[in-house]
Amino acid sequence: MKFVGAHVSAGAGVSNAPVNAHEIGARAFALFTRNPSRWQSKPISVKEAEAFKSNCARLGYAPSQILPHDSYLINLGAPDSEKLQMSRDAFLDEMQRCEQLGLTMLNFHPGSHLKMIPADDCLDLIADSINLTLDKTTGVKAVIENTAGQGSNLGYSFAQIARIIDRIEDKSRIGVCIDSCHAFAAGYDLSTPEGYEATWKEFDETIGLGYLSAMHLNDTKKGLASKVDRHESLGKGVLGSLFFSMLMKDPRMDNIPLILETPDEGLWAEEIAWLYSQE
Ligand SMILES: [Zn+2]
Ligand SMILES: [Zn+2]
Repeated sequence: MKFVGAHVSAGAGVSNAPVNAHEIGARAFALFTRNPSRWQSKPISVKEAEAFKSNCARLGYAPSQILPHDSYLINLGAPDSEKLQMSRDAFLDEMQRCEQLGLTMLNFHPGSHLKMIPADDCLDLIADSINLTLDKTTGVKAVIENTAGQGSNLGYSFAQIARIIDRIEDKSRIGVCIDSCHAFAAGYDLSTPEGYEATWKEFDETIGLGYLSAMHLNDTKKGLASKVDRHESLGKGVLGSLFFSMLMKDPRMDNIPLILETPDEGLWAEEIAWLYSQE
């Protein structure tokens, strides 16, 4: 079964996210459990956490259909030791929020070397950061998102993601989320049947399909290997409708959250219905 949804607002409290997801016909959703552009944030109250859990249960969202996304400020490979510590503290808080909400995955961007350290050293710092956090938490999988490779962001190649996973001590608690816009921007041509098959073959050989835990479904404004991250509504970008149609028929993407982060929220209900029509 396919679990399609979108990254919905939790602006007035996390308990609203499942309600917002239900309104657009989603069977999955993503959310921020804290303000994604601030270092400080208030704890989630016991009452709000209970309301979140009861709304999820009432509307039929199991933890496997929910993909929280971490704050944009966090850089688990930060070359500066003070920034690295701030990032590790915030990432631990993100994981603990997931624990509190009974969630089982946390989606995050690997990190950036900021042109201050070699890429491999940065990837190793990221792995160390993940190991430290997994040690202090239970039951939540750290889900690495591939990037477009914009600026000095790492995790744009499957080999870089594999290098991080290789250094993770508890491999049962690490997963991967593939964003289709980012993959295309990084040079993986998902737009044609041949490119689609070649990309997943490479994913399986380099990382392993068993690690595929979620996807972000975004079309893209920019070309293949552009390394520019600009999401577009489904079928309106250069990735095109065929990719999304192939994906909905592909059993390898069964039972994982498939999350829209397309720019026009007003189209989400329509995009979700169209995706289900392609199964
Ligand atoms: Zn992301
Ligand atoms: Zn993006």
